[in-house]
Amino acid sequence: LPKKVKAAVLKEAKKIEIMEFDKPEVKKDGILMRTEICGICGTDIHIYEGRMKVPYPIIPGHEFCGKIEEIGETAKTLEVMGKTLAEGDMITVVPGTNLFCGKCYYCRFLPHKPNLCINRRAYGSSMSCKNPPHLLGGYGEYVYVDPVHFWVYKLPDDMPLEVAVLTEPMAVASRALERAFEPGLPSARDGFGPSRSVAVQGAGPIGLLVLAAAKIAGAGKVIVIDMAEERLKIAQKFGANHTINLKEISKPEECIGEVRKLTHGLGADVVVECTGVPTTFPEGIEMTRNGGRYVEVGHFTDSGGVEIHPHSICKKDIDILGSWIYPPTQFETAVSLLYSNFDTVPFKELVTHKFRLEETEKGIETMKKHEGLKVVIKP
Ligand SMILES: [Zn+2]
Ligand SMILES: [Zn+2]
Repeated sequence: LPKKVKAAVLKEAKKIEIMEFDKPEVKKDGILMRTEICGICGTDIHIYEGRMKVPYPIIPGHEFCGKIEEIGETAKTLEVMGKTLAEGDMITVVPGTNLFCGKCYYCRFLPHKPNLCINRRAYGSSMSCKNPPHLLGGYGEYVYVDPVHFWVYKLPDDMPLEVAVLTEPMAVASRALERAFEPGLPSARDGFGPSRSVAVQGAGPIGLLVLAAAKIAGAGKVIVIDMAEERLKIAQKFGANHTINLKEISKPEECIGEVRKLTHGLGADVVVECTGVPTTFPEGIEMTRNGGRYVEVGHFTDSGGVEIHPHSICKKDIDILGSWIYPPTQFETAVSLLYSNFDTVPFKELVTHKFRLEETEKGIETMKKHEGLKVVIKP
């Protein structure tokens, strides 16, 4: 009889149950990964609440890493950077699968933007656990990696789990910042470059990782705005030069004025929106200096609209850029940013809560109450 393994299954909106599945047989081109840690993402909350369409029943979770328990013969040579994979290796997997379907308009005409592929599927959100190999999400003891999903990165042995689990959010954050890199000439003060000022709206995990990526990439002054003191304290540890607490400055004009005051009266060269709160968007436009760049990465789901004055966009001559997920290559950037800097940037402090698999619902409740930063499950 096949051995049974456990996973947290979302059977319908707001209904999570710990279920048992047959441990899948590992094919020649597959990997069975023992999940060591999986982050609970804001997106998971939207899925849990039923605000995102998903094929129930599903195992949520797309921010995971773990150890190879079993690996098929041909899979051993398929690591993204050409490393040889073996049992016991720590790995992480790009959750967006079928990237580069190769057939849709975006794959054919915009191959440098595989994040736009219309056939993109992802672990933890778009594949049901109904059929074998079942284990297609991070909220479980195991994840099955098959060749369609083969963007597997081997992680350094001495990379702490609490840092490794940030790879996916760091991919989102670093890609958002990189949007402000291109196209343009830093010397012409187009976008991001060494010494450029950056304002980050929101000090959740993504905002804090944008801040860290900006500092590592040579930003000058970085200003972080949030309403939670604990988050701003971590922002300072991550290298923020200034923090603005919205509990003290509640009027948008005052906050915009504060950012301008800190940037020669001009506004920040680059502003990144990481709150997901629509009203922050017109404020962010005003915080951006004329000719600057504004990157929107916070609204992964639709949380409503807001009044915009197109005149300010026109008059300010600014670039407004969206950032949707990341190309799978972004994981290389993310792992490198985290691994090369975890001794100086206290990334681990982002992980504020740990729960066992059986406590998945508690973890989701903690996220909903905005009590922690990164809440993780350790199956
Ligand atoms: Zn996520
Ligand atoms: Zn495609």
